[in-house]
Amino acid sequence: MRHLILGCGPAGIAAAKAIRAAEKDAEIVIATEEAFARPYIRPLLPDYIAGDIPLDALADPQGVDLAMNRIEVRQGKRARKVDAEGRRVSFEDGTAEGYDSLLLATGGKPLLPSPLDRHPKAVVPFDSLSDAKRIRERAAVPGPIVVYGPGYLGIEACRSLARRGRMVVWIKPVPSRFGYSISGEFEARVLDEVSRRGVRIQEGDDIIFLRELDESFFEVRCLDGRDIRCSMIVAAAERLPAVAFLKGSGVKVGTGIVVDDGLRTSAPHVYAAGDCAELYDGKTGEVRINFGWRSAVKLGKLAGENMAGGGKVYIRNREDYTWLLTGASLLDRLK
Ligand SMILES: Cc1cc2nc3c(=O)[nH]c(=O)nc-3n(C[C@H](O)[C@H](O)[C@H](O)COP(=O)(O)OP(=O)(O)OC[C@H]3O[C@@H](n4cnc5c(N)ncnc54)[C@H](O)[C@@H]3O)c2cc1C
Repeated sequence: MRHLILGCGPAGIAAAKAIRAAEKDAEIVIATEEAFARPYIRPLLPDYIAGDIPLDALADPQGVDLAMNRIEVRQGKRARKVDAEGRRVSFEDGTAEGYDSLLLATGGKPLLPSPLDRHPKAVVPFDSLSDAKRIRERAAVPGPIVVYGPGYLGIEACRSLARRGRMVVWIKPVPSRFGYSISGEFEARVLDEVSRRGVRIQEGDDIIFLRELDESFFEVRCLDGRDIRCSMIVAAAERLPAVAFLKGSGVKVGTGIVVDDGLRTSAPHVYAAGDCAELYDGKTGEVRINFGWRSAVKLGKLAGENMAGGGKVYIRNREDYTWLLTGASLLDRLK
């Protein structure tokens, strides 16, 4: 059997290991668009940006023994198209891979609203290790930094940049639709802690216009009419499932990749797990996208077991899969 996995985050790695545990001789290939020395722990990126931990501390312990387990990782492979009938994935670099079973574990990507999507020089997403390196570098340029984003990731971006001693303006648009929902008294306490770190919060505001002043400085115009001169805009926008490459593939996509309770997609031999999967609860009719490291590990493991013929279901312990954030609580991080 040849198992192909797209994405080398926690879901992809957990799946590969579960397959290996069940199938000694299977060929297992993980293809990912990113290029990194070792798989890394995304939730630690804010601490790396803050300067609290070194680059080495980001290494994901799940990822250290992949070669030993004969799990091959191919980097710099961005999937362009899935041919579910022909059981083949084509990549942006012109190569293609066949499979007997395929796992889609492509996670989420920040959704950059207009006008942020048109200014790659000014706007840095708060998402990957290469983004984090860029943010650290750019944080050395003096001047205020604008953080854009509605929820959890916005808070983390503000925390990490304020910790570097930077002046931060947080443009906080309408509440997030899919991310970790923070509301009520808890939200009030978190916002209080964020502003005590010197962050100026512009609640319910938005960016309507962005212009480049020179090589290093930019100006954003806010919905409330204010102009802010800044050295970068960190886009801690909502992460929405990375599914664009599935167009025309026959794999059903809603907001995420629609899966049944065994994490099978609508296409034969194709599974999805982690932040890219859209889970459906047959009992309640509820549809949801999970966000969280531990949930991705659990779903990835289950998908891997099923790719190896396990026949398991995820829905019985619903709480096991919802909002499984790893790390300290937000309030503790802000202390
Ligand atoms: C800054 C930040 C802080 C976070 N903090 C926390 C936290 O404190 N606690 C917590 O639990 N969660 C946190 N999260 C969320 C957590 O990282 C995710 O829930 C988790 O990584 C999802 O795992 P995944 O395997 O589904 O996808 P991902 O980890 O997103 O991995 C998917 C991989 O697939 C790759 N990919 C995408 N498209 C393609 C393609 N077309 N072809 C090939 N490869 C592709 C991506 O580049 C990526 O490497 C944070 C996320 C971010 C961005």
